[in-house]
Amino acid sequence: MQKKIAFYGKGGIGKSTTAANVSAALAENGYQVCQIGCDPKNDSTRLLLGRVCKQTVLDMVKKYGEEVKPEQIVHTGFGGVHCVEAGGPEPGVGCAGRGIIVALEKLKALQALPEEAIVLYDVLGDVVCGGFAVPIREGYATDIYIVSSGELMSLYAANNIAKGVARYAARGPVRLGGIIGNSRGLANEQALLQQFAERLNTRLVAYIPRDRTVNKAEIHRKTVIEFASTAPQAAVYRQLANFICENQELTVPTPLAFEDLEELVLAYGDE
Ligand code: ATP
Ligand code: MG
Repeated sequence: MQKKIAFYGKGGIGKSTTAANVSAALAENGYQVCQIGCDPKNDSTRLLLGRVCKQTVLDMVKKYGEEVKPEQIVHTGFGGVHCVEAGGPEPGVGCAGRGIIVALEKLKALQALPEEAIVLYDVLGDVVCGGFAVPIREGYATDIYIVSSGELMSLYAANNIAKGVARYAARGPVRLGGIIGNSRGLANEQALLQQFAERLNTRLVAYIPRDRTVNKAEIHRKTVIEFASTAPQAAVYRQLANFICENQELTVPTPLAFEDLEELVLAYGDE
């Protein structure tokens, strides 16, 4: 089965952690899975590889030029997940977005990923910067999931991302698969996220509890799926993975005006 998925969301919201756990759960189910980190921090695949990937696409292209081989940029992680880090410039130098374009083009040109795989792009930031819109704009990813908590700024970023998705949906196959709630433990957070998703013309496809198991697994450089495979949190990630796999109800989002978003948060969060 082929699927082209992207996870977007505010910085630090839990994209990489959630993506790695979903990838691990899909691999457990026997799927071919690729996770592609589109973030110059190169840490998207850390939990799958058990280390920070030092052989990014851009680094390897710099080192080997036209001679670069697929096996130098695609690394095998937990459960056989194909792990790729696009790479990018050192903080404060050059355009990270441009680097992502080059890296994704290289992957495509080398046909470095199995054709029938589920590909999951883990993308830093919102879609304000053109570079980070690349996975959507260039048709690399069609099923977009937005990770958000109930915090106003996280919802604000999610709403902006939805605007980007709506723009590209108008002229291509890109659609919103849903909102992945990653809890910050706020009052009425799940209900707020559910309402936010409805207003965006989509669904809350998971509500992931804030759980210490995630942090324990992280310091052991593992996904929860690997580190605590029988924990309730692992079951939450497995359920999300199954949902994403089977989801056929993708939509064109209807973003909110900022004032409406503020009002929504006030209605649920003022406790
Ligand atoms: P960035 O935008 O910097 O790439 P990100 O969105 O990928 O960030 P992560 O690196 O996945 O975010 O997560 C940030 C931190 O939050 C990590 O330390 C992670 O372990 C923790 N975290 C994520 N989800 C949960 C959760 N459900 N429970 C507890 N901790 C969590
Ligand atoms: Mg990340």
